Amino acid sequence: MSDCIFCKIVKGDIPSARVYEDEELYAFKDIGPQAPTHLLIVPKRHIPTLNDLTGSDGPLMGRLLVAASRIAREQGLSEKGFRIVANCLESAGQSVFHVHFHLLGGRAFRWPPG
Ligand code: AMP
Repeated sequence: MSDCIFCKIVKGDIPSARVYEDEELYAFKDIGPQAPTHLLIVPKRHIPTLNDLTGSDGPLMGRLLVAASRIAREQGLSEKGFRIVANCLESAGQSVFHVHFHLLGGRAFRWPPG
């Protein structure tokens, strides 16, 4: 989508600190890190919110989670643990309307989240 910031990042029109890329997925450092490691993992295809997923997106979202697990391992987060967050719509904290998973690690996290 032409005015989507994450689509522009995926295309390279906006710079990002890339940590992983394949045909379908792109992962990069969050510009406002909330933990020592804070990455975003996005499908390259524009999907606005988790509400927009359909059954045919299952394999893509599965690969996204597997990639998150692998990236967490590569970032040295597997042993102590990490958190994956996906916000859906404004009241959950979604500010960019292109589906993304936050991968956070390097500190302890509280539960329940704020
Ligand atoms: P959310 O609020 O769950 O939609 O998450 C959006 C995230 O995108 C926030 O954590 C922002 O800090 C991050 N963000 C926004 N613009 C950029 C950018 N240009 N590069 C990297 N991260 C960004």
